[in-house]
This record gives sequence, C-alpha cells and structure tokens, in this order.
Amino acid sequence: MTEATLHKLKILADSAKYDASCSSSGVGRGNAGGKKTGQKAGLGSTAAMGVCHSFTDDGRCVSLLKVLHTNYCKYDCAYCINRVSNDIPRAALSVQELVDITIEFYRRNYIEGLFLSSGVVGSADTTMERMVRAVRELRQKHRFNGYIHMKSIPGASQELVHQAGLYADRLSVNIEIPSERNLKMLAPEKDHKSVYLPMQYIQQGMLQSKDERKRLRSAPRFAPAGQSTQMIVGASNEPDHAILRLSSMLYSGPQLKRVYYSAFVPVNGHDARLPVLQGAPLVRENRLYQADWLMRFYGFGAEEIASQEHPNLDLEIDPKLGWALRNPAWFPLDVNRADYFEILRVPGIGTISAQRIVRARRAARLGPEHLQKLGVVMRRAKHFLAFPGNGAALVNEAGPEAVRAMLTTKSGKKPVAYQLSLFS
Ligand code: SF4
Repeated sequence: MTEATLHKLKILADSAKYDASCSSSGVGRGNAGGKKTGQKAGLGSTAAMGVCHSFTDDGRCVSLLKVLHTNYCKYDCAYCINRVSNDIPRAALSVQELVDITIEFYRRNYIEGLFLSSGVVGSADTTMERMVRAVRELRQKHRFNGYIHMKSIPGASQELVHQAGLYADRLSVNIEIPSERNLKMLAPEKDHKSVYLPMQYIQQGMLQSKDERKRLRSAPRFAPAGQSTQMIVGASNEPDHAILRLSSMLYSGPQLKRVYYSAFVPVNGHDARLPVLQGAPLVRENRLYQADWLMRFYGFGAEEIASQEHPNLDLEIDPKLGWALRNPAWFPLDVNRADYFEILRVPGIGTISAQRIVRARRAARLGPEHLQKLGVVMRRAKHFLAFPGNGAALVNEAGPEAVRAMLTTKSGKKPVAYQLSLFS
C-alpha cells in the first residue's frame, strides 16, 4: 500500500468511527473453491455465528474494516463530523484502492470483512454507484467471501439498492433522528422518506429473493444477514418512549435485524440546535439496548417499557426492574405454575434460567435452593417470587420504593447505578 493510500485510509477510518451500526452475524458462506469442486479457490469465508464481532471498551465494533468511501459530503447534518461546513482533512478512495485495501487487510488477517459507508458526493446515486462497484468487484473479480456490511445512501434508487443487496451481506440505512421534525432541523437536506424508501427496497429485495429461492435453490441471495438501522440518542429531544415505539414498529416488519442506538457525541463546535453535553449519555444508550432486548426476546411491548406516563427510561435501574416496580400487583409469581413469558418478567431471571426452570419443574417442585442452581439471581428475584418460607420483602407488600432502595443501595451507602449488563 502506498503512503498516499495509507494517509487516505487514516482519514477515512477516523471519519467512520462514529457509526455504531456495524456488528455482523447470521450468515454462513463457505469457500466453494478447491480440489473437491474443481473450481478456482475463492478468498476467505464467513462463519454463521458472526465471526466479525469485536468491540472496543466503549462498545463499538472494530473487527471489520470500517471505512468511508469518502468523507467529502455535500450535506450539513449538525451532528456529523463530516458535514460540509467542517474544516477537516478530506479524502476519497477510488474503487480500486478500496478493493485493494480490503483484500490486503484480509490476507494479512487484520479483518474479517468490510463495513462500507460514505459521505454524499454528487447525487445519492453517484455515491451509491461507486460503493456498489467496489463490493461487486470484491465479490466477482476477487471472489471475496468475507462479510460485507454496506450502508445504503438515503435517496438511492431502487436499482442500486437492489445491486448492493446482491453483493453485501447486510445493508443498512440510518434513520439517525427519530422524528421527522427534528431530522429536518438537524439535517435540513434529509427527510424520513429518503430513509424509509431504501428500507422498503431492501425489504422487497429480501422477500423477492426468498420467494425465488423457494422455486430455484440457485437464485441469488439478497442481503442474507438482513438490514439494520441506527438512531442517534440525545441529539434531539425525543423521549425514550418515542424511540422505542419507532423501534417496535420497525421490528414488526419482517426483515429488520437490529436497531442500533448511538449516544450522541458532540463532535462539532457549538451549534445552537444541539444540546451541550459534558459526555455522551452512554447509560441511556445502554438502557435502550436493554429495552430493545426486552422487546425482541422477553415479549415486552414498547408501551410497557416506556409510555406517555413514564416517557423516559430510569437510568438508575434496568427497564425490566423498572417495569416490575411499576406493577407490584403482578407479583409475587409462582414459578411452578407461571408460563415461560411470565417467568421472564421476574427481575433476576433471564432467558436461560427461565428455560431451565420450565424444564426442571417437570421433574420436581422447585424451591429457592433449586432456583439458585438454575441461574436465578436470588438477591433480586426473591422480592418478586412466591415460595414457602420466603422471608424477603415482597414488592406487593413492602412496596416498590422499599424494594428499589434495597436493590440500588449498597450496604447503607448512597444508591449506585444498577448493573449495566443484561438481566441475569
Ligand atoms: S449525509 Fe451522512 S456523511 Fe453527510 S453530513 Fe449527513 S450524516 Fe454526515
């Protein structure tokens, strides 16, 4: 790699680091070449379990080559480091440079795939066309089998989105700002239509491919790892209630794999449209991920987690505990009788321990000594469970405030922000 290309790469990788929506998973593709098939061996392969995962300590994924095609951009989004009004070093990689870098890094084992995004130069289609050319060349000319996550440029045509889906494993279009009114204020050149239309194109492409592959196994796959999107949290004033309602609506469509929540980082100088922050609201981001998890795997509705009455998530406690404390009459629960999804609502019981409980109670009636062995965090769960001899303060008797104090206070000291990991 030449010095000039390396210099560009440094600029473009740095410019890409604020996009959080880059984890990959769920697609398997072997290397079909070699003696057995008689074909020329391809380069690399992708494992279905998401080999591209790797996160820095602030939670960003780094194992893909995460790079922009260019950080020149004609738009002026208030929250973005690459906006046209910023005086920053700019660079653009040619299609050939992008391809060569990806291949070289892959061969050196630095990366397992590519996350490709771009600022908008010319029109949305001009930018998208260059990105599509790069991924097509990787797949067709170099037979590159590594993971590719490509951002679709808002406003790109259906034809180009369709082509992108034939070469990329995952496509994403970022919503960025949850409400249209705030998007218009912070990114005047964008609107939700330019985001939702490519999302629809992706969905159509995936459904069409699925249908064709039912009839003809060799029909091409379209974005086999699905599509994702990202919302910036805290750059505008939408409450968590509105964010989660939007996520829930998006998940109700068949093809959206993930919504990523990215805590707003003030990367630009003063802008009256943006809040002044001392630091990124990472705890809020984390609470939203927990809430998202509850919607996807625990059977919670968005309105149960945050509502008009409780528009924002409690930053001190996780959203499941928050729900349990707002619904004391729902407890105590008898794990020997409750169904799986009821058991999942008990703080301190996660999906694995709930599955174990349902299996284990077929053989014997379960008591607290069993629950602990099954992975239940009894320190939390005991306030919400009915079993003989449970001397703990129950939430329906002692009251939510008392239980909350017990769970958030460490040995009489001041309350601590309760655990950031998930539920058990
Ligand atoms: S269009 Fe994308 S790259 Fe350009 S300023 Fe807006 S967010 Fe940044």
